[in-house]
Amino acid sequence: MRFWFDTEFHENGYTIDLISIGVVAEDGRQYYAETDFAREKACSTDWLRDNVQPHLTGPEKGRPVIARELIEFMGEKPEIWAYYADYDWVVLCQLFGRMIDLPKGWPMYCRDVKQLCDSLGNPELPKQTSQEHHAMADAEWTRDAWQFFVDEKTERNKRISDRYNQLMTIGRHGHYETMFRVVSEEVERANTNR
Ligand SMILES: [Mg+2]
Repeated sequence: MRFWFDTEFHENGYTIDLISIGVVAEDGRQYYAETDFAREKACSTDWLRDNVQPHLTGPEKGRPVIARELIEFMGEKPEIWAYYADYDWVVLCQLFGRMIDLPKGWPMYCRDVKQLCDSLGNPELPKQTSQEHHAMADAEWTRDAWQFFVDEKTERNKRISDRYNQLMTIGRHGHYETMFRVVSEEVERANTNR
């Protein structure tokens, strides 16, 4: 099952300290928790005090409790996504200890919607209308941004297959010439939209 998550954290260049985590599952379930003393930690910098602290709602839980609940929530073979994932991923992994302490069956890497976006020419992503810097709202937006690429791919595949069928019905060219023409049209389309 796929999961999209986001965290808020305090970091000082040496350590990353979890404040809150939100996870949304492909089937719509959600998990949200804040660590002990989240409110205090979210006062440690001006930025956190202005952008994160006002949106903290609780519940506050100990890290071992969050770790246990995440295993229950995400199961044995999760596919895990985040947006600009690197810091979020480390702070999630450290709930379980070292890298080798990650739950059995979990991937040792996180998929990044930002990388996906980059590799597809950086199209404009849907705007976030919910509260930014709230881990649950950000996780849901990450899911929506991922969905945007899936919808676009579905649309492109349909366009390609419709155009192929249309040209083959006209029947002037065989399979390869027709495929070549359809692909060329798609490349041209991508270049004009850039
Ligand atoms: Mg966030």
